[in-house]
Amino acid sequence: MAYICGLGIFGLNQLIITKSGCAGRFGSFVIDREVDYDNPVTEQYCLYKNNKSCGVCVKTCPSGALTFEGIDKPKCSKWINDITENILMVLEYSGPAANAYHCLVQ
Ligand code: SF4
Repeated sequence: MAYICGLGIFGLNQLIITKSGCAGRFGSFVIDREVDYDNPVTEQYCLYKNNKSCGVCVKTCPSGALTFEGIDKPKCSKWINDITENILMVLEYSGPAANAYHCLVQ
């Protein structure tokens, strides 16, 4: 949605990069009104896509799923699932202090 609204352009990291960076959150809502709008972003903020510099996201991708050619989504997903399982297993066997991840209301 953010891309369609012209807020940024996809970078090598597969995320929308705006002039403020890529560590943001977007929300949207639907209204029954016409509103003024400005021009969509056309500037490429990804340094690699802009001038082949940087590439830090590829070099530091912990799963190796992100490459200069694109992203291997199943490989990324598997890595996230594996690491999540490992974290939950450590919490499970770490004693009472680790139960913080359980709902505190119950
Ligand atoms: S190449 Fe650099 S600027 Fe582009 S998405 Fe990766 S880390 Fe960000």
